[in-house]
Amino acid sequence: MAVYGHVITHYTIPVNFENDWHKFGPSSGVAHEQRVNAAYSADLFLPKKDKVNICVNCGTTGHRKKHCTAGMGEVLSKEGIND
Ligand SMILES: [Zn+2]
Repeated sequence: MAVYGHVITHYTIPVNFENDWHKFGPSSGVAHEQRVNAAYSADLFLPKKDKVNICVNCGTTGHRKKHCTAGMGEVLSKEGIND
């Protein structure tokens, strides 16, 4: 499943997501799925039930991007450690 699918399955997308670009970023020129994925990465969504770690790198659950082992290893050391 793609990252977007995991995000909308496990997290609540605010009703004002499309309009509140002060918080979620401008919507022009950026696909809805990309904005959702970016907002998830920034921890802007509340979990529907339990918080689920979703990796925006490989698109699986159970870990975040910074812990991803599916290639792009050089990204890991540049990611923050506070999520
Ligand atoms: Zn991963």
